[in-house]
Amino acid sequence: MSASAAATTVGVSSGSGSGVDAPALEMVGVSAAYGPYRALFDVSFAVPAGGITALIGSNGAGKSTVSRVASGLLATSTGTVWLDGRDVTGWPAYKMARIGMAHVPEGRGVFASLTVEENLKLTFRQRGGRRTVADSLERAYEVLPLLAGRRHQRGGTLSGGEQRILSLAKVLVVPPRILVADEISLGLAPLMTDVVYDGLRRINQAGTALLIVEQQVHRVLEIAENAVVLEHGSVAYQGPSPGAMGAVEHIMGARERAEARGGDEVETGRTDEVSGSNSEYDGQDNGESGT
Ligand code: ATP
Repeated sequence: MSASAAATTVGVSSGSGSGVDAPALEMVGVSAAYGPYRALFDVSFAVPAGGITALIGSNGAGKSTVSRVASGLLATSTGTVWLDGRDVTGWPAYKMARIGMAHVPEGRGVFASLTVEENLKLTFRQRGGRRTVADSLERAYEVLPLLAGRRHQRGGTLSGGEQRILSLAKVLVVPPRILVADEISLGLAPLMTDVVYDGLRRINQAGTALLIVEQQVHRVLEIAENAVVLEHGSVAYQGPSPGAMGAVEHIMGARERAEARGGDEVETGRTDEVSGSNSEYDGQDNGESGT
């Protein structure tokens, strides 16, 4: 187990990933890069099975990169990724999806020329087979009732929020073990954000663990039991949600102090829960390349 995992308060197991209550998702000592640019440093955290975990941090902290690694869209440079007790390090996204990973990236995945119902039928048929379509449709309309009233409307004419709800519905066919929802409320009006969050809550109630990547910190901490705070590509805090605000404030305070000093000395903003991983992030090539 990495030093960061040892320093945290909840959720990180031995990394073996085995056992009945294995986390839905676990990263142990994960680093990742875009070519020569290293974006994650020794990231360790766990998303408990059936729970809701918030992934928060300032712009460029590495939240989307974590969600890409989690869903198999970006390979790790070092470290391991566990999905529901299995070592899935290096697995491609389609293979991860087969064993229970669902990823809803920012508002994508809607066919503009098809109606809501056609969009759903297409996905449900592809994933669950023809015989599952009727049941899956019924379930989608029950869990996300807004879609029932829009079933004949073309995907391209839905509002941004409605499109995100449609992409959430697509994961309902076979309830995944974990759903990674990346900035799913970005740019939405508060009312539509409520609807999206209501959908997330219902998906969780059906047994799916959630990792919610979110800019609206207060909003996501209302629904999440646990939080992971990223700063400069490292875990600055992981633990129960109430403690996360303290970590965020600490980071903001450190930034303000650095700016007041003219920005020539930057603190990492780590809290007591901080890992022993890299604290010299400067966004420069450190010699490690991505895969
Ligand atoms: P935001 O909240 O602004 O979306 P984030 O926390 O999701 O930010 P990431 O998108 O994960 O941050 O980016 C982490 C770092 O990696 C940033 O410095 C970003 O510029 C860099 N990065 C992200 N995608 C790429 C890419 N395709 N190529 C090179 N660098 C990238």
